[in-house]
Amino acid sequence: MKTSIAIIGGGPSSLMLASALNESFFDVTIYDHNSALGRKFLVAGDGGFNLTHSEDVETFITRYTPSDYLEKCFRFFNNNDLQTWLKRIGIDTFVGSSKRVFPLKHIKPIQVLNAFLNELKTKHVQIKTKHEWKGWNQHHELIFEHNTHPVNIKADIIVFGLGGASWSKTGTDGTWTRYFENQSIQILPFQPSNCGYLIKWQETFIHQAEGKPLKNITVSCNGKQKKGEIIITKFGIEGGAIYALSPQIREQLTASNTATVFIDLKPSSTIEVILSKLQAPGHQSVTERLKKQLNFTELQISLLKSIVSKDDYTNTEKLATLIKALPLSIYGMVPIEEAISSVGGIDLSETDNNFQLKQLPNHYVIGEMLNWDAPTGGYLLQACFSMGNYLGNHLNQVAYQRIINM
Ligand SMILES: Cc1cc2nc3c(=O)[nH]c(=O)nc-3n(C[C@H](O)[C@H](O)[C@H](O)COP(=O)(O)OP(=O)(O)OC[C@H]3O[C@@H](n4cnc5c(N)ncnc54)[C@H](O)[C@@H]3O)c2cc1C
Repeated sequence: MKTSIAIIGGGPSSLMLASALNESFFDVTIYDHNSALGRKFLVAGDGGFNLTHSEDVETFITRYTPSDYLEKCFRFFNNNDLQTWLKRIGIDTFVGSSKRVFPLKHIKPIQVLNAFLNELKTKHVQIKTKHEWKGWNQHHELIFEHNTHPVNIKADIIVFGLGGASWSKTGTDGTWTRYFENQSIQILPFQPSNCGYLIKWQETFIHQAEGKPLKNITVSCNGKQKKGEIIITKFGIEGGAIYALSPQIREQLTASNTATVFIDLKPSSTIEVILSKLQAPGHQSVTERLKKQLNFTELQISLLKSIVSKDDYTNTEKLATLIKALPLSIYGMVPIEEAISSVGGIDLSETDNNFQLKQLPNHYVIGEMLNWDAPTGGYLLQACFSMGNYLGNHLNQVAYQRIINM
C-alpha cells in the first residue's frame, strides 16, 4: 500500500516537493486555503520573476542567514539543477546582466506555474483548494475548514509549506503559528525582510528626490557591504542594495530602535583620488568640483547637502570621508504586509536534518515558514525549491529502504 502524504500550503516549496516525490511510493495531496495554488509565486512573477541566481554554489550558500542550515539542500539541488529541471518541464531560462536567472522573456509567470501544475498532474498529485488548515484534533488528525464545514484528514506523513507573513492577500497570513505554539513548538515573531527602511528626510531634499534611484553605490552596515542601487522613497529607502543588508539592519533596530547604514557614493575611487580632485588647483566651488571632477549627479549632491553640515561640506578632507561613508539613520521598517519576505516563524532548532519537527514525528516543515533569511535576487525561491527537492528525495529514500527491508 502507498504511503499517504498531505502537503499543506501550495507555494513553490510544496510544488517542488510534490513533483520530487516518487508516485509509486506515495499518494500525494496538496491542500491550500486559497482557491488556487501559487498565488505568491505569481506575485513574484509580476515583479520580474527572478527564479534563482547564477553565481557559483560556494558563494551562493553564503547569501543565507544562517548559511549552514540550508547548505545541504543547495549541494543536493543547486541553481544549475533548477534551470535543468525547469527546462525539462518546458521553461527555458536566461541569465540577465545582473547574473539573476529569469524565464525567457515571452514566458509569462502563469505559464511557469502551469508547467509546475501540469507536472503534478502527470504524477497524479491531488489538489484540494479552499481547505484551510486549523490544527489537529485529539486523535492527531488534521482539521481543515472547507466551505465553512470542518473536515478531518489522516495522512501517514504531513508536510507544511505555509509560507511567511508578508503579502497576506496571497494567502500567507502567518496565522498558522498558533497551532504549532499549542504543540509547544517554538515560534519566533515575524519581522519584515527585503523591505523598505524608514528615514526622516529633509523636506527640501525629498521634494526633489522622491522616486529617484541612487545608482552605482555601495551600502554597508555592521561590516557587511552590498554594491548596487537604492531608491529614495517618501518614507526612506528601498532596493536591492539595502535589502541585502536586512539581517544587519534588523539586528541594530532590535537592539536600539535605530540603525545606521553607510553609503559609499564613489565606490570606484579611493578617498585619496576623491581628495585630490576636491583639492585640485582652481577657483571652482565644491559643488562644481563634485559635478565636473567627480561626475556627481544632482541627486548625489542634494543627498550630501541634506546630510552633511555646511562646515563639513566645505572642508574637503571631511567631505571626502563622508563621500566614502555617508551615514543614513534608519528608524524603522515598512509594515510586514509590504515586505517581499519575512523572517521569524518556526525556530530552526525545532527541526532535524531533514526538516522533520523533532517533537512531531512524520511532520515536516519547508519554505519561508522557517526562520531563515536571504536577499532578493532569486535566493528566496531557490531556497524553497531546494528544500522541496531535498525533502522529496529524502522521503523517497526512506520509502525505498522500507520496501527492500520488508
Ligand atoms: C512582491 C514579491 C516579489 C517577490 N519576488 C521574488 C523573486 O523575484 N525571486 C525570489 O526568489 N523570491 C521572490 N519573492 C519571494 C517568494 O515568492 C517567496 O519566498 C516564496 O513564495 C515562499 O514560498 P513558500 O513555498 O514558502 O510558500 P508561499 O509561496 O508563501 O505559499 C504558502 C501557501 O500556504 C498557504 N497557506 C497559508 N496558511 C494556510 C492554511 N492555514 N491552510 C491552508 N493553506 C495555507 C497559502 O495560501 C500559500 O499558497 C517575492 C515575494 C513577493 C511578496
